[in-house]
Amino acid sequence: MILRAARKWLRRRKAKEPRRLPAKEHGIRPEDIGKNALTAVQKLARHGYTAYIVGGAVRDLLLGIAPKDFDLATDATPAQVRRLFRNSRTIGRRFRLIHLYFGGGQIIEVATFRDEADESAREESGRILRDNRFGDAEADARRRDFTANALFYDPDSGEVLDYIGGVEDIRRRRLRIIGDGEERIREDPVRMLRALRLAAKTRLAIAPADARLFAARAELLADISPARLLDEFIKIARSGCCAVILRNWHKHRIAECIFPQIAPPSAFCERACAEADKRAGRGKAVSVSFVAAAIYWDDIGEKWRDEMEKGARPVRAMENALGKLDFLNNRVLSRRVAARMTDLYFLLARMKISPPGGRARCERISGNSLFSRALAFAELEDDLRPLAEWWQAYAEKPEREKTQTLSAAGRKRRRRPAKTTGEPRQ
Ligand code: ATP
Ligand code: MG
Repeated sequence: MILRAARKWLRRRKAKEPRRLPAKEHGIRPEDIGKNALTAVQKLARHGYTAYIVGGAVRDLLLGIAPKDFDLATDATPAQVRRLFRNSRTIGRRFRLIHLYFGGGQIIEVATFRDEADESAREESGRILRDNRFGDAEADARRRDFTANALFYDPDSGEVLDYIGGVEDIRRRRLRIIGDGEERIREDPVRMLRALRLAAKTRLAIAPADARLFAARAELLADISPARLLDEFIKIARSGCCAVILRNWHKHRIAECIFPQIAPPSAFCERACAEADKRAGRGKAVSVSFVAAAIYWDDIGEKWRDEMEKGARPVRAMENALGKLDFLNNRVLSRRVAARMTDLYFLLARMKISPPGGRARCERISGNSLFSRALAFAELEDDLRPLAEWWQAYAEKPEREKTQTLSAAGRKRRRRPAKTTGEPRQ
C-alpha cells in the first residue's frame, strides 16, 4: 500500500508529456473515425473540454483492424457531458460512464479521465470496488488495462498521444499489462479474460511475464459477479475467434475455475466454435446460447441417447436428460441463456420424432425462430446430420411438394420401422 502511494507520488513529480505521433507516423485519418464519435469529440472541444478517441478503436486502427466501436475520454465530468448531449444516459456502478445514443443503435461511451482508485476503494485482496476519482489524461492512461489500450487519438491535431509505450508495444506485437501485472490482476481479475480475448482478436502476443501469472491467479475470478463474466463470455462468443479463446481459457486454467465444462473443450464444442467464428467472420450474428449449448452437448447428447435406448420418445428422453444436469450451476451462464439452450435442445428432440407428423406440425418446427440454429447444430455431429439434411430438404421444398414428402416419410417409416437413416428417427 505504502509502496503504491510512493510510486504514485514519484510519478506525479515527474508528470510527463506524452509521446506525440503525427499522422504520417501512425496513419490514422479522421475519416477512419466514425462520424458520430468525431462529432462528439468536436462538440466537447468546442465547449472548451479536452476529448480524445481512446482504447480499442485506436489500438485496432493502428493494427489495421476495423474498430467495433468508439470510446471517448474527456476532462468533462459526467454531469457536464450529460448537459451537452441530450441523447445521453449515465450508466455503470463501478465506473460512472455516459452513453451517447445515435441512430442505427450506435452507442458511444464517454468516460471522464480517471485516476487510480485510492485505498479506501479497495478490498483487502487489492480488488477495486469503486473507481470514480477523476484525474488527468496521463492518470487515465495509467489506470487502463494494457499499454495498447491506453492510446489517445486527437482528431483535431491528428496526433496519437502515448504516455506509456503502447505504440512501441503494438509495433512489437505485444499486449502488455500496464504497471505491475500481479497487482493489476488482483485489482481486477477480469483483465486476464480481456487479455486472452484481445490477444486472439488482435493477434498480439500477451507479454510472457503477464501470461505466466494467469494460471495461478485464475481462482480470483471466482469472486467476480456472474453478470460481468457473462458479459465477457458474450463478447468471446461473438469475437470471431472463440475457438482459440476457449482453448486458452483451458490452457491458463481459467476454464477449470469458472467453466469446468470447457476444461478442455470437447471436439463437438471445438467444431461449434469454429462454426460460430465462421459466422462472425462473415458479419453474421452469433448466438451465445448456440456456443453454450455446444459446450454441454457431449454430456446432454449422451444422456439423451441413453434415455432413448431405454425406450423413451425423443422429447421425453430430452426432458429426462436435462433433468439430470443443472447447467445453471455454473458461474457464467444466465437464466436467459440457459432457457435458450433448453429451447434449442427441445427443438432438436422434436425434430427427431419420426414419422415427422402432419404438415402443420412440420411447419411449426421449420418456422421456429431457432430452426436454422438447430440445423447448424445438428450438422456438426455424424449422428444428427441425417436429421439436419432431412429438415433442410423439407424446408427448401416448394409448398406443393411438402405434403408428398411427408406422406412418403410416413410410408417409409411404416415399411422399415427400425432403419430410416435419411430422415428423422425415433
Ligand atoms: P473491444 O474491441 O472489445 O471494444 P476495448 O479495448 O475497446 O475492446 P472496451 O470494453 O470497449 O474494450 O473498453 C474500452 C477501454 O476501457 C479499453 O480499451 C481499456 O482502455 C479500458 N478498460 C476496459 N476494461 C478495463 C479494465 N477491466 N481495466 C482497465 N481498463 C479497462
Ligand atoms: Mg471498445
